[in-house]
Amino acid sequence: MTSPIGSTVLGYPRIGPRRELKRALEKYWAGDIEAAQLRQMARDLRRDAWADLAAAGLDSVPSNTFSYYDQVLDTVQLFDAIPQRYRDLGLNGLDTYFAMARGRDTVPAMELTKWFDTNYHYLVPELGPGTRFELAGDKPIAEYQDARAQGVQTRPVLLGPVTFLLLAKAEAGAAEGFAPLELLDPLLDRYAELLTRLGAAGAAWVQLDEPAFCADRTDGELAALGRAYDRLSRLPGRPQLLVTGYFGDFGAALPVLAGTGVEAIGVDLVAGRAAADRIPDIPALRTKTLVAGVIEGRNIWRTDLSAAAALCARLKESVADLAVSTSCSLLHVPYDLAAETSLPPDVAARLAFARQKVDEVVLLGKALAGDDPQIAEQVATAGDAVRSGLAAARKDEQIRARIAALKPEHRLRAAYAERAEAQSARLGLPPLATTTIGSFPQTTDVRKARADLRAGRVDDAGYAERMRAEIERVVRLQEEIGLDVLVHGEPERNDMVQYFGELLDGFAFTENGWVQSYGSRCVRPPILHGDVSRPAPMTVEWSTYAQSLTSKPVKGMLTGPVTILAWSFVRDDQPLGATADQVALALRDEITDLEAAGIGIIQVDEPALRELLPLRAEDRKAYLDWAVGSFRLATSGAAPGTQIHTHLCYSEFGDVIEAIHGLDADVTTIEAARSKMEVLADLASIGYSRGVGPGIYDIHSPRVPSTDEMAELLTEAVRAVPAERVWSNPDCGLKTRGYAEVDPALRNLVEATRRVRAGL
Ligand code: GLN
Ligand code: ZN
Repeated sequence: MTSPIGSTVLGYPRIGPRRELKRALEKYWAGDIEAAQLRQMARDLRRDAWADLAAAGLDSVPSNTFSYYDQVLDTVQLFDAIPQRYRDLGLNGLDTYFAMARGRDTVPAMELTKWFDTNYHYLVPELGPGTRFELAGDKPIAEYQDARAQGVQTRPVLLGPVTFLLLAKAEAGAAEGFAPLELLDPLLDRYAELLTRLGAAGAAWVQLDEPAFCADRTDGELAALGRAYDRLSRLPGRPQLLVTGYFGDFGAALPVLAGTGVEAIGVDLVAGRAAADRIPDIPALRTKTLVAGVIEGRNIWRTDLSAAAALCARLKESVADLAVSTSCSLLHVPYDLAAETSLPPDVAARLAFARQKVDEVVLLGKALAGDDPQIAEQVATAGDAVRSGLAAARKDEQIRARIAALKPEHRLRAAYAERAEAQSARLGLPPLATTTIGSFPQTTDVRKARADLRAGRVDDAGYAERMRAEIERVVRLQEEIGLDVLVHGEPERNDMVQYFGELLDGFAFTENGWVQSYGSRCVRPPILHGDVSRPAPMTVEWSTYAQSLTSKPVKGMLTGPVTILAWSFVRDDQPLGATADQVALALRDEITDLEAAGIGIIQVDEPALRELLPLRAEDRKAYLDWAVGSFRLATSGAAPGTQIHTHLCYSEFGDVIEAIHGLDADVTTIEAARSKMEVLADLASIGYSRGVGPGIYDIHSPRVPSTDEMAELLTEAVRAVPAERVWSNPDCGLKTRGYAEVDPALRNLVEATRRVRAGL
């Protein structure tokens, strides 16, 4: 029973090398294929992945990393924690599962939220004092057995019980003060049952993921972790246990877990590099296997294997056995670099996607296991290749010189009072000025025009003409509806980050580099590989065309530096802040050009500001310093009379609320409709004194909100903030809706605004 782990990965992408699962899911949801066909397709995908990982030479292959939608939702179903409203639908298991994920009839989906600081989203479990866990499914066991039948001995991966509870929320109507962690003991009973069954089925190892402990936790939560693994490790007949923490430093969880009877602990030595220095000081680790996550699981750069090998060799001295692994699941990177045919060769040479990372792990594992000179040579060569690739990366001396010459005043605008006066004189807007967040519905015509351009069916001039026609239509519509500040509608943008990436130097794009965001939804992040600079204006043509059509102010629309970084794969050879400043300079130049072309209002979207916030409080100040600093670098070249807006997504701002002030925008629009304006109280608590536009129209549902409803939200807003500073706007993302809803909803919004204005 003491097989070593050797080389492994903590998880693998599941959507399929060609997004096969996405297609199958969407066909199943549309009623085009049967459940049996979906199941078959899923089984083929799992089997291919196991075969591939085993053939690559991994010593330990994970299983149960597949999911039809999300591993947290799998855990909900596995332990029968299904909220009653979905049970009441009376559907079979698979359709109940999809009902929780996507909603059904009149029952909305469960809440979807960010998986730690990644761009993956999970469904939030809802638990209450009355929740009774049962081992209702056998997914981990069935997948283990299926792999075994295929000749691959796997290590089933489970979401750990403590993280599962910490990610859950109290169900609606749960007693005040109820915390899901109170359910730990009954949940452990079920985990014990599952582990016993996995052991009986022949699993030698089981992996339990506890990433919640890479964020700050209370002593009580740490004690719960210790109690949980103390108990599970005493279970007779169980498999050996590997407990992992990733996306940061496992911190205090490391000694706690080392003090229990688990055999192995997996640590993220990329995001949590500092943990390496403490490992020798934890005596209890001397009896454990350390699974060293030295191959970055979330980014796409090749590993300097010689440095990784040196680190592993050092750590090996402090533990009973050392295994090598990725820092986290490879779910967060694309499948295979071999599927790319058009990346610049010098960029491609620096990359490793999931499949290549497996090879890196295998090679590193071999290097540590023996002293084969050929392997040692390969490891050394890999290190050299990384270093020479970096040395050859795109350099832009002009940008570097500008960055080097930056002074504090480059991040400073005139005093707000002066700006407010200049802007009000120039713009003359009414109180509760109405606007939108930038995009308008993307019609099939618009999408087709972009596709035609890509396919060469239309030339640049023909494309521009179609875009202008769309912009004109959107401007006329806004005038007719009666909005005060217009937008051009963003028809030319495929995606708010990709669009800018394609126009900036220093970015590259994949053809198949898809990464699961949630369910069947995938994103294909740009690759920010070298120094960034702006060869030419990016948005001026469209914004000025829109402005030429109307006497109302048209708001220019840019994506901020933090969001551009957050939704790209970013070079890791310099601090993020340094890269953000390069992007910021490009935006700063764009703002100068927009101003020169007569645009008086410019919005710089930062929906991802909150997303990149470090999991541990001690790291947050440094992050917010560079994030806010780069936003200010981008925007502070604007004249006092130019009104700078920013837009932030999501309403739970608690941890970044101070930073919102720091951004020093003249107007901040925030998603707020669903949270009923709560954000205004938060803003008031920090004495926020600039313009604010809390969204009063929730665009996440096709529902058209009534005039009454929006008037009520707006009335609430003017109770919290003086009306001259309140803006009237929807939440973001009109582009995901159709005109059938957007048109009447915006008319209602304008009417609601008139009504509230009249009562001022
Ligand atoms: N300007 C963008 C839009 O309106 C903002 C999108 C976002 O916040 N994610 O679509
Ligand atoms: Zn938004």
